[in-house]
Amino acid sequence: MLSIALCLSVFCFGFTVMSANSQALESPHQQANIKFDTNIPEHKKLQLSTWANHARKALRLVYGKLPVEDFITIIKTSNGGTSAVPWGEVNRYSPPEVTLVVNMNSSLEALKADWTIYHEFSHLLIPYDAADARWFSEGLASYYQNIIQARAGMFDEQTLWQKLYDGFERGNKQQNYAHQKLNYLSDHISENRNYMRIYWSGALYWLNADIALRTLATNTAKPYSLDAALEQLQACCFNGYLSANEIVQKLDELSESKIFTTLFSEFSKSYAIPDYVTPLHSLGVKVINGQVTLNNQAKLSSHRRAIYIGLSKPSE
Ligand SMILES: [Zn+2]
Repeated sequence: MLSIALCLSVFCFGFTVMSANSQALESPHQQANIKFDTNIPEHKKLQLSTWANHARKALRLVYGKLPVEDFITIIKTSNGGTSAVPWGEVNRYSPPEVTLVVNMNSSLEALKADWTIYHEFSHLLIPYDAADARWFSEGLASYYQNIIQARAGMFDEQTLWQKLYDGFERGNKQQNYAHQKLNYLSDHISENRNYMRIYWSGALYWLNADIALRTLATNTAKPYSLDAALEQLQACCFNGYLSANEIVQKLDELSESKIFTTLFSEFSKSYAIPDYVTPLHSLGVKVINGQVTLNNQAKLSSHRRAIYIGLSKPSE
């Protein structure tokens, strides 16, 4: 089945895609399963492959391997826009394809510092059929794009939490559709354009689930986390695409909890981004005048640290 999860952001406008015909693409790059647009010069391909491999490595830091080993990265060129990667999208074929539109004059450092590739790759962590509850999928990508960048050494722990806090704040500021529930808002995103509320309510959903799973594990003395639940999901349920409802039910089953469905129902009905100050505070994320500092004496500081570190210490 063909379904498309478009990835939009406020940064995605005002560029032209050149040679968008997929028939004009060359054969996949050996290392990172990359297809290059034909107008990409040979000397740029090594740099772009290095970049894609760097992001694949970052995605592996969720649970030690890629959710879909053979996914394809398609790189196209842009002649406009101000960011290094003005556009990205995931197409849920089998195997899935991630298309990235790149400004050809960007340095490797600028490409690595752009969030788009981490966001698009993070979409692959669930076998989502792109039919319902887009907030759920965009939230996952918004949450993990920051986590995998931090784990890959792109920025430190304090910056990770600053970025998450800033995102929640942007979500909180978007209140012009406060009369509509998140699930309705999310289904009509092209009309209301409430990207920040939709994406960051979703990111908070996954953060809350992560905290609850880690707390559950503390109580049972058996290590557990969102990373681990997603690894189980990958092992059982990647032979087809599922709705958001089916995914949360499966995740509940795998985690032997009601965490995912309970939060899903709560968030779907929200009229604004739910409270993010309390969960952040419980993790030891203090905010003064918009600036995040980390407190290691908080009740759940160890969860905060574990979300940052993941499987191993961040390294390039
Ligand atoms: Zn997205």
